[in-house]
Amino acid sequence: MSNYPDYRITGLTLWKVPLTSHETYYMAEGKTCATVDSMILRVDTDHGVSGWGEVCPIPHYLPSYARGVAPAIEELAPVLLGGNPIGVEALMKACRSHLLGHPYAQSAVDIALWDLTGKACGLPVYTLLGGLQSADLPLYHSITCIAPEDMADIAKDALAAGMRQIQVKLGADNNWEADVARLRLVREAVGEGPLVYGDWNCGSSRLDATRVGRAVRDLDIMLEQPCATLEECAAVRSATGLPMKLDENAHDTTSLLKAYELGCMDAVALKLSKFGGISELRRARDLCLHFGTKMCVEDTWGTDIATAAALHLAASSPAQAVLNVCDLSGYVYPRLDPDAPTRSGGRISPPAGPGLGVTPNPAALGEPVLSLAA
Ligand SMILES: [Mg+2]
Repeated sequence: MSNYPDYRITGLTLWKVPLTSHETYYMAEGKTCATVDSMILRVDTDHGVSGWGEVCPIPHYLPSYARGVAPAIEELAPVLLGGNPIGVEALMKACRSHLLGHPYAQSAVDIALWDLTGKACGLPVYTLLGGLQSADLPLYHSITCIAPEDMADIAKDALAAGMRQIQVKLGADNNWEADVARLRLVREAVGEGPLVYGDWNCGSSRLDATRVGRAVRDLDIMLEQPCATLEECAAVRSATGLPMKLDENAHDTTSLLKAYELGCMDAVALKLSKFGGISELRRARDLCLHFGTKMCVEDTWGTDIATAAALHLAASSPAQAVLNVCDLSGYVYPRLDPDAPTRSGGRISPPAGPGLGVTPNPAALGEPVLSLAA
């Protein structure tokens, strides 16, 4: 047997923290984000070291919901309590065998185990993931779907703050001509150079998305997830000739392979809670490196823990493969860790320090909704 310390999990504590967006966020098909519950998990060990995880599902966005996290953690408790968290993958394999699916709940556990492993080793998570390749990562700014002129104003402000990538939400008013105006006015507002892409979050028909794409085909524009299926997105890509980013349809190895075969994945959103945490997202990252697909490494929503987890994976990836990351914590309040990274000049860096490098302020958490001990 080895002489390495034998860590065992002794406790699982879960909090529900409502995150409120600085501005109410409108997307296609009536999806909105004003206040959304984030689930914060702490995993304690017999060595006095704890790891933090987070998952914040957006309602009506993906097959996940915040109130599903506590029962999933209870279901996983017999595997987790007394288990050895160090190294992450062995224990996560046991979790995924014990509770099939539920990747969003598994994501919070996986993130906490990476935090724990990093703290036990005294190393940042990006070092455990292969080493720092990009200390400074490009951000995108996402603009809520409101009147085209107002979106152009927000784009101008974002550009002035150093942002070079602008995501334009489309489809909230089910008016394809307004979507054309949104893309045209935002492109005009930021000028040539910055990346501009229009995201329907699955909310368009093939016909409407094709009309929008053809109406802006003279511009440098990327489309994102116009329709609900990969086949429809591939049809829009081929009818418009515009590059395509996938998001909702890309959530596991099978969907990534299919998207690549359909030729509609110029870029992809790799979100922690879609895939099931850092471990699964690392596998997706490696597959996308092979495909030559540009990656947006992030999560659905969240605050400092989810943001930090995505930043560590992005920072350990080749710079040319990372399209952008998202400062999720910058869109909402409260901040859990006031010292966590923030955007600066359109860029952000992963936190320093062992593990994820962020520590929630207990006052921001309130009373736990679940507390389990070995
Ligand atoms: Mg998207």
